[in-house]
Amino acid sequence: MPNTGQRIVMKFGGTSMAGIERIRHVADRVRREVATGNQVAVVVSAMAGETDRLVQLCKEAAPLYDPREYDVVVASGEQVTAGLLAMTLQGMGLNARSYMGWQLPIRASGHASALIEGIDVAVLERVFDDSGIAVIPGFQGVTSEGALATLGRGGSDTSAVALAIAAKADRCDIYTDVDGVYTTDPRIVPRARKLDVVTYEEMLELASVGAKVLQTRSVGLAMRYGMPLQVLSSFEDLPGTMIVGEDGSNLTTGTVMERNIITGIAHDRNEAFITLTGLPDRPGTVAAVFRPLADAGINVDMIVQSAKSAGGMSDLTFTVPKASLAHSVDALAKVREAGGFQELLTNTDIVKVSVVGVGMRSNAGIAALMFDTLAERQINIVAISTSEIKVSVLISEDYTELAVRVLHTAFGLDAPAASLDAGAAS
Ligand code: ADP
Ligand code: ASP
Ligand code: MG
Repeated sequence: MPNTGQRIVMKFGGTSMAGIERIRHVADRVRREVATGNQVAVVVSAMAGETDRLVQLCKEAAPLYDPREYDVVVASGEQVTAGLLAMTLQGMGLNARSYMGWQLPIRASGHASALIEGIDVAVLERVFDDSGIAVIPGFQGVTSEGALATLGRGGSDTSAVALAIAAKADRCDIYTDVDGVYTTDPRIVPRARKLDVVTYEEMLELASVGAKVLQTRSVGLAMRYGMPLQVLSSFEDLPGTMIVGEDGSNLTTGTVMERNIITGIAHDRNEAFITLTGLPDRPGTVAAVFRPLADAGINVDMIVQSAKSAGGMSDLTFTVPKASLAHSVDALAKVREAGGFQELLTNTDIVKVSVVGVGMRSNAGIAALMFDTLAERQINIVAISTSEIKVSVLISEDYTELAVRVLHTAFGLDAPAASLDAGAAS
């Protein structure tokens, strides 16, 4: 009998897969989806904390680890959960099997933050034809040399979306430990409000400045292919958040889209800043600093160059991902030897806090309100960056909670007190 239902990719995150009890719960959720007549493929993350543990082991083994070997180590967490979920589903009498990235294959290029080049769906189609359930480890692919590759932290979201696109799924459901996308991280601000719908563009910006509920790349991919994306709770049967196009396309919930100036506030503790002092005043100085970083594949985010002192020297401050700090310092050693700067200082006790909203395009005064609000609390701003729909500031990490909370209130995002118990995270 051909299946007439929908084709859905379900992705379960680390907290949802943390331990056999929770994996059983996930298996039951999958069973219910299959029982509605839908074709289902499942993408899983490693158990919560496992990838962190594996990354730490790499750092201890070799601070400047080889990215190819890093991938061999960190991809292992998802292999374990995929096997465990497949056997749990089999124990329920379901026709489930795990397929590692190389078995499909999910073709990828690069290491540590590899890009997906394509997914062959022949194997998957055969599984669907046999009314089977494929359980696929997220976060991993295979290079043209046959080596394991991982997709960057949080990459299982991207695996799921890429798989949904390749398999022409009707929807990609991201099951996690909160019941949707909120105006800010509900673990920091209990008065954060759940958004019924959010545009791809806003979600992209929120994710890129630290709202880790979805990996940025997964949102970009879904946007490019118009893949309907939904964020849902693994633990409770509650309506989640639909991610839709600006015109409301993919809007299946019938909800009217709100048009707030500000969609949300995000924070990112994963950046470190580097200050270089004594840069000589001549053309090419800054290029000489950033070229080796780019060649090492390191993403530089915020950049501030201080005014030149009397001696004609200037300072340069910029942020890099914390995970790339050791590699950045290493890449800059040669620049210093060549007289590119005098001193290199690093600081990891910082956080980037951002205010995001499409409505900002047509509203002046967002940045001013943000700076005023932080000034009132005596919070010092180290660096600033803006885009058309975002303002970000770099501040001391000690002020993370306070800054996010006061900005959430200042921009009128707080939920009414009465709905508090409905809004908090699990
Ligand atoms: P998973 O392991 O399921 O991939 P993540 O930890 O990657 O889960 O993402 C879910 C977490 O994202 C939540 O626990 C929450 O703390 C955090 N988060 C940050 N910003 C937001 C937001 N705006 N809305 C919802 N959750 C958010
Ligand atoms: N396990 C990987 C990580 O923690 C991928 C993911 O969970 O999305 O980054
Ligand atoms: Mg995640």
